Amino acid sequence: MDRRTKLFRHRDPYDIPGTNEQFLAAMAQNCRYQYDHCPDYRRILTERGFSPDRLRGTRDLGALPPIPTLYFKRHELFSMPPGKLPVKATSSGTSGSRSRIGFDLMSLRRGADMVWRMGRYHDLFSPQPCHYLILGYEPHKSNQMAFTKTGYGFTFFAPALSRTYALQYRDGQYVLCLEDLQKRLLSAAKGGAPVRTIGFPAYTYMLLAELKKQGVRLKLPKGSKLTMGGGWKQFYAQKVEKEALYALAEEVLGIGEGECVEFFGAVEHPILYTSCPRHHFHIPIYSRAIIRDPETLRPLPMGELGLLDLLTPMVMSQPLLSVMTDDLAILHPAKSCGCGIPSPWLEIVGRVGVRDIVTCAAGAEQFLQGEGRT
Ligand SMILES: [Zn+2]
Repeated sequence: MDRRTKLFRHRDPYDIPGTNEQFLAAMAQNCRYQYDHCPDYRRILTERGFSPDRLRGTRDLGALPPIPTLYFKRHELFSMPPGKLPVKATSSGTSGSRSRIGFDLMSLRRGADMVWRMGRYHDLFSPQPCHYLILGYEPHKSNQMAFTKTGYGFTFFAPALSRTYALQYRDGQYVLCLEDLQKRLLSAAKGGAPVRTIGFPAYTYMLLAELKKQGVRLKLPKGSKLTMGGGWKQFYAQKVEKEALYALAEEVLGIGEGECVEFFGAVEHPILYTSCPRHHFHIPIYSRAIIRDPETLRPLPMGELGLLDLLTPMVMSQPLLSVMTDDLAILHPAKSCGCGIPSPWLEIVGRVGVRDIVTCAAGAEQFLQGEGRT
């Protein structure tokens, strides 16, 4: 079996010690493929004095040059003809600064294996049909944003009785339809089928606050969940806001804190991170996080604040092996959470400005000199 397939089919999505070897082998295999099929990536590795043969031990992962997300916003790096890739997605940045990412069929299958195992672990699958409230865009062929696609994807964890969108496509444009959401909530509270909301934490908070203002107090059916996800920026220093949000969910919808689940991921690093019962994002077996010193880019020890570099061997169509985000984060030891998941967890603390990342991260500046070559 292919090394990546073996890793993505491993039973326990948090068994890092049991899959370290598979992870490394899958990274080495993918790195060799990217090196052979993406001339720009080969140039970047060569300029940094790195060859795929160097990936022999776990410590070598830190030596693999990370590609800044900023680079993907300005260049297209493909190892397969982009026109032939079945799924394309863009990040949700302002137009002109979005990353265009494409996935090949095998990578998508591995993504599906990952979602299946993460969903089972976190008890997200249910045979009981439910009503979905999607605090985002209704899918439309003009909308390529990854969040629209993943938002729709989350409506398959349990069979859908209905899907109600906050932003509906009417006569060529999106319009905000909060009233439809409210109507659906009120009628669902009287029925027996659970409700699941899907949206950015900020939108979810706004909806709950609006309902509270209108005096809404519901007890949604058992099995109802608040699920939240979106870009990294949704997760900065929001501890207080998050606690207020959980309290509102209980007060307005009768949904307990344990039923509030958060996700994160990024188009440039399409790994599904799912919050544990204590609302921490543990690292699954499909990825690794390296925290780097913003000045030197050297890997930092656990517990220190630095730039977040995310690694995964999942995608074959593009060199997304090691992607440097512009987020500041801390990696914490597993046991400091206490939920029992045996892998370290990530705390995203904030974002550095674009200007900062170019000046801070010496590597980023070097990569950007390649502008116009792709
Ligand atoms: Zn935990």
